[in-house]
Amino acid sequence: MTDPVIEIAGAGPAGLVAAITLAQAGREVVVHETHKEVGHRFGSQYQDFQGLENWTTERDVLSLFEEQGLTTDFANLACNQGTAFDYKKRKYKINCKQPLFYMLERGPGPKTLDSALLRQAKRLGVEVRFNSRLRVIENEGIMAAGPKAADAISAGYHFSTEMDDGYWVICDDNLAPKGYSYLLIMDGVGTVKSCIFDDFKQEKLYVKRTVEAFEKLVNLEMINPKFHGGIGNFYVPETAYAGRHPIIGEQAGFQDTLWGFGMRLVISSGQLAAQSLITGENYDTLWHRDLKPQMDASIVNRCLFALLGNRGYGWFLRAQSHRDVREELRKQYQSSMFKRALHPWAKRRYLSKRKSLSK
Ligand SMILES: Cc1cc2nc3c(=O)[nH]c(=O)nc-3n(C[C@H](O)[C@H](O)[C@H](O)COP(=O)(O)OP(=O)(O)OC[C@H]3O[C@@H](n4cnc5c(N)ncnc54)[C@H](O)[C@@H]3O)c2cc1C
Repeated sequence: MTDPVIEIAGAGPAGLVAAITLAQAGREVVVHETHKEVGHRFGSQYQDFQGLENWTTERDVLSLFEEQGLTTDFANLACNQGTAFDYKKRKYKINCKQPLFYMLERGPGPKTLDSALLRQAKRLGVEVRFNSRLRVIENEGIMAAGPKAADAISAGYHFSTEMDDGYWVICDDNLAPKGYSYLLIMDGVGTVKSCIFDDFKQEKLYVKRTVEAFEKLVNLEMINPKFHGGIGNFYVPETAYAGRHPIIGEQAGFQDTLWGFGMRLVISSGQLAAQSLITGENYDTLWHRDLKPQMDASIVNRCLFALLGNRGYGWFLRAQSHRDVREELRKQYQSSMFKRALHPWAKRRYLSKRKSLSK
């Protein structure tokens, strides 16, 4: 008996990593992608810049990718030092011995994470069908269709610039309610965004204020700016199966509820779903073991962060400026007795717009 072809709905990082893992185990895979290219929701003229967090593991994320057989053939910038500001525009240095995150590009361009994963998948013999929406999986398959509801919005501009590489953050509810504003620059291109967790109706106002604040604080200079925005969906399901098919990535709600650094969770979920199809293990058992403790801690972190308010963010940033932020965040992102004790409270308090995986 030959194994059936595995169909995957969605060529985002979750779907492509699942396809790569399955192909490496000798399985035949077809990935369907609704759009004409990968990373369509992130880029057109410019690509989006995002941070691949490097704080949830002691080991460096890029060396882990290499060990796991995932490509690192995408443009990236190791981000150790940066600058944060509070609502009074007081400045705090962010210092880490090792990169806090890697800035990378998302979108259809040649140097993006999405294109690197696509190249690796194709080299392994994965068939990727563009302009193909998969509605029903007949045999074996995985759902990887991206976010289905907006629990956070990240909006702002992509642009060219003559500014130097770097990253800057502002924690101020007047610019990004319960979230943060950020500016990322690499190789003469930049992204400035307000990442908001509340008051979505006033998104444009927060973007305007964010741009004005960065102009004042760091002389932000945007050439040919193009508006861009997207949504994040943070939800911890009981089961991440649709019938007998695993659901992975943000379609399952797998995200970092605190700040939206979900890429690594999304990628891990793709690897675990592939493992479950290869070995016959139960996918829910695998992600409950490897991903859920961090996602539960992340809900607690979100509720605590939202309670801080502007004065609290200032206190938080001041405390971090005396420490190695990478080490501090690793502690905060881990499950602990304290986080587990607060989890029932946080679960009642944090309400995703998503009520179930089928809605
Ligand atoms: C503006 C913004 C900034 C972000 N910044 C960061 C960051 O700094 N760090 C971080 O870690 N994360 C960040 N994220 C989150 C991160 O981008 C996502 O978590 C990640 O892309 C989710 O990957 P995915 O594969 O689950 O879904 P997606 O990347 O959304 O891919 C899903 C794909 O499935 C396709 N599709 C949908 N339905 C079907 C169907 N029926 N058939 C076929 N194809 C289908 C879609 O077209 C899409 O290409 C950000 C998100 C946004 C919006």
